[in-house]
Amino acid sequence: MLHKNDDISPTGLLAAAPRLTGFRIERLELPKSDPTWRFALAANPASPGFLLQLFAENGVVGSGSVGEIQHLGYRLGDMKGDLEKVLPQVVSTKDGSAVESLVGPSRALVQMALLDLVARSNHVAAHQLLGDLKRESVKVTRILALKSPEEMAKIAVSLVDEGYLNLKVKLDNQDADLDFERVAAIRSSVGPNVGLTVDANQSYSAEGALSISNRIAQFQIEVFEQPVHKDDIVGMKFLRERNPIPIEADEAANSVARVEELIREKAVHGVSIKVPKLGGIDKASLVAKMCSDAGLQVRIGAHVGSRLLSAAALQLAVVIADLVEPAELAEFERLEGDPVTGLVIEGGRLRLPGGYGFGVSVSEGF
Ligand SMILES: [Mg+2]
Repeated sequence: MLHKNDDISPTGLLAAAPRLTGFRIERLELPKSDPTWRFALAANPASPGFLLQLFAENGVVGSGSVGEIQHLGYRLGDMKGDLEKVLPQVVSTKDGSAVESLVGPSRALVQMALLDLVARSNHVAAHQLLGDLKRESVKVTRILALKSPEEMAKIAVSLVDEGYLNLKVKLDNQDADLDFERVAAIRSSVGPNVGLTVDANQSYSAEGALSISNRIAQFQIEVFEQPVHKDDIVGMKFLRERNPIPIEADEAANSVARVEELIREKAVHGVSIKVPKLGGIDKASLVAKMCSDAGLQVRIGAHVGSRLLSAAALQLAVVIADLVEPAELAEFERLEGDPVTGLVIEGGRLRLPGGYGFGVSVSEGF
């Protein structure tokens, strides 16, 4: 039996897991309900990824799901090749080092499925293996794709009408005045009580980010996510020292080593924690602890894909002591055809499901 704070690395989980009898990996392509959804780095009418199921001799199935992250260099084709090589080895030998040869979302996929399997086999929710429960639900944000200020404001109002309390505004610096108009229109449409953050996905220079921040700070923006290029540590540090809006690293915080560097350089106010880019729930948990210890804001970033992915990240979000809400765990709402059910958002909050493992169900016919 694995207990809270035990080793949740692939090696630790494999040691605690029942004997594995097989696996199934399927490509999962979830169409976006708005096919024109785009941000500064990409526009894709669907969200592509994988769903992995691990079968064990006790009859329990552990599941995981991740999407590709093209802008960080993780493409489905490469991931498939790596996973098809490693998974038969993992099943036949329960060899953790085989999983450790994977990186980013591929490693995350296998670690997730193992965590789900071990939790279900022990009749506990996954969060019980991750730490003490701090909350039963998490406030969630919805992301506004790049469109005209009027269109973005209209969508913002409809999301607030659905009960969301927080929104994230995508910016792209094609025209800083247009970005200003986007934020101004959204704030004026939703009123003063909705939390707003912005994300430029690396599209500004440090000077440009400072300039637009000085213009939009009047709209009570809580976080400016990844304003400059992910490798521009100097630019982030420049902003960390003088920007009126706190700076958060997302693409820049794409590994444990990079987060260590950002902390050492005092380059940001916070980090967007995402299970796939960091390579697993164990790594994401470690990064949350590193950020807490360094006094950085700990936020859960966007997990775009199946409900299974958000459910897995939610299990971590509910045990992080100083989590800064909202978490970006509601994007499954804009995808169609998800074979996974069991997550409920109510009043702008994602509720922790009951049940073992990640607490969600993969449909039989999948
Ligand atoms: Mg981001």
